[in-house]
Amino acid sequence: MNCSYKREKVKIFIPLVHNGDRMAKYKIVQDRESCIADGVCASLCPDNWYIADDGLASPVKTELDDLGCNMDAAQACPVNIIHIYEIKEDGSQKQLI
Ligand code: SF4
Repeated sequence: MNCSYKREKVKIFIPLVHNGDRMAKYKIVQDRESCIADGVCASLCPDNWYIADDGLASPVKTELDDLGCNMDAAQACPVNIIHIYEIKEDGSQKQLI
């Protein structure tokens, strides 16, 4: 049985980053007490927003690696109570909306 094996160097690129040299992360902050329960966020971004039993909207997740439709929800909120922060690698935060 001929079992020759040729060892080769193989470069493997693992995409650890998608925004420069770091993984972008985002935090969602909602002033829930000011929610007027119109459901706009849940209709525009059902992946992360729902209407809770008390009638007010809530996010499913408040920390995200991908904003997805959350910016649409924040921009459409009629009372501007959905805020999104970008969390930088050094721990500082930048408010996006
Ligand atoms: S869009 Fe704003 S006001 Fe409307 S349900 Fe969502 S968080 Fe509440």
